[in-house]
Amino acid sequence: MVALQGWVNAKRVVGGIVFLEIIPENLVQPVTAVFKKSENRDLWKEAKKVKIGTAVRIEGEYSRVRLSKRGEEFKPTKFEVITPPVDILPIDLTGKTPVLFDTKLKYRYLMLRLPKERAIFKIRARLLKHVRDFLEKNDFLEVHTPKIVGAGAEGGATLFELDYFGRKAFLAQSPQLYKQMLITSIPRVYEITPYFRAEQHHTTRHLNECWGIDVEMGFISSVEDILKLLEELLSSTIEYIRETCKEELEILGVDLKLPRRPFPRLTYDNVIQLLEERGIKVTWGEDLSDREERVLGSIMKEKGYDLYFIVRYPWETKPFYIMRRDGYSESFDLDYKGLEISSGGQREHRYTELLRNIRDKGLDPMDFEFYLEAFKYGMPPHGGFGLGVERLLMKMLDMENIRETIIFTRDIHRLIP
Ligand code: ATP
Ligand code: MG
Repeated sequence: MVALQGWVNAKRVVGGIVFLEIIPENLVQPVTAVFKKSENRDLWKEAKKVKIGTAVRIEGEYSRVRLSKRGEEFKPTKFEVITPPVDILPIDLTGKTPVLFDTKLKYRYLMLRLPKERAIFKIRARLLKHVRDFLEKNDFLEVHTPKIVGAGAEGGATLFELDYFGRKAFLAQSPQLYKQMLITSIPRVYEITPYFRAEQHHTTRHLNECWGIDVEMGFISSVEDILKLLEELLSSTIEYIRETCKEELEILGVDLKLPRRPFPRLTYDNVIQLLEERGIKVTWGEDLSDREERVLGSIMKEKGYDLYFIVRYPWETKPFYIMRRDGYSESFDLDYKGLEISSGGQREHRYTELLRNIRDKGLDPMDFEFYLEAFKYGMPPHGGFGLGVERLLMKMLDMENIRETIIFTRDIHRLIP
């Protein structure tokens, strides 16, 4: 005997038979319970009058008949209504009528009854579990840094401001400054954290609240140590998802490929040259635009690479905390199929140089006093990265819109639910 709890998603009455598609609480795929009047009249009557959306419990056996691609046949012996719906469901979960994207985001919590939606978030959870396991195995310590902060890391325009008992405060746009401060006592730290970004984006790759995997490592010899770590992290994550989420990937119709290694390390100057060969002129010293990133993505795809680093950006394009070298910086971006999914680099750990960088960026060292002080007491060379969870998932699962990869979207139009 098997007991299932879940929701009635569809009902079909054919002569003396009622087919109920039931979405069980913990399975990805639905089951179809078949109630025959000839076998059990009372159960059949109950099933016939049940409303779509009802939370139910059934007991019975799988009859090992595969009814369709979507489900397995279940022979019920007991059927119990737990909670009937108060209203008609606002969306059609049978897949017969397409759900508008906006409606889907509004009712994401209901959409999650569907295998496709569940598959995305199961993969998301597995991915984060694996990232934690990987980092723990490599001696990184998980830390939590404040989300209410007095200074930003990436520049003032992108901060959400709030009133903190009469003082001006912000929502943290990244744990950058704090994770660096910790390097002076714990040389390997990581945090899985929300980023709050106040830019008024209208794109398919930006959210105003997104999640990052933030890693920082001390006692490094060069930025290459960080590139190696990130390459290893991504390769093992993709391999893990391929192995442990086969059913979910199948439901989503995704052929997740192992990345070709080593990931190329293109310099910024290489990239400009590659783009120029395609007739795209980039002004030296500017960050790559969305279109330039996409064209580079197709150039690299032709060469057989989905994942590649762009290293040695001009210092102008990068934040003050990045180490400077001859007009360039020890920074990198990691792009996946034409989209930046991570930024990182070696940081400036030398007190005097860091102070100079802050001034050269036109910032006031007084605003960063708490941060700067941590560099006075034996700060080792270090580096790290911020890896966007939603961007990574979006590219792994070949999704067009980043909003597909987070349950409740925060963007310029969406604050509720
Ligand atoms: P972009 O230039 O693409 O807007 P960024 O360079 O400002 O991104 P970083 O500050 O480098 O972003 O943040 C590190 C990573 O966090 C990015 O590579 C990306 O994966 C993710 N990320 C940053 N901002 C957003 C956002 N608004 N929405 C979703 N993901 C983001
Ligand atoms: Mg970046």
